Amino acid sequence: MSKDRAKPGWRSLPIGGTIVEAGSSTKYKTGDWRTFRPVVDEKKCTNCLICWIYCPDGSIRRKEKHVEIDYDFCKGCGICATECPVKAISMMEEARQ
Ligand code: SF4
Ligand code: SF4
Repeated sequence: MSKDRAKPGWRSLPIGGTIVEAGSSTKYKTGDWRTFRPVVDEKKCTNCLICWIYCPDGSIRRKEKHVEIDYDFCKGCGICATECPVKAISMMEEARQ
């Protein structure tokens, strides 16, 4: 999880989702309505980066030995878990506070 907890959530988006500034999506923590979260098993991950290619949200970060999920933006669609050839990603129910 990102250390930056100060980002506003999706409820703070402009009405109608209007894009008023290029690149403004990085200012909003748009992953906070996720129902399921992908969890990477670092022991299984071969760092093939197939999940990184398929993620429609650019929420997978490349690291030296495995990938990490950016939960500030991941929508929990599960495509990464479906496409991972070694089943290193599990979709877990999101805990609510
Ligand atoms: S669950 Fe969907 S949005 Fe989240 S990292 Fe996987 S592919 Fe990307
Ligand atoms: S697709 Fe699976 S094995 Fe490949 S980088 Fe992603 S989590 Fe790791």
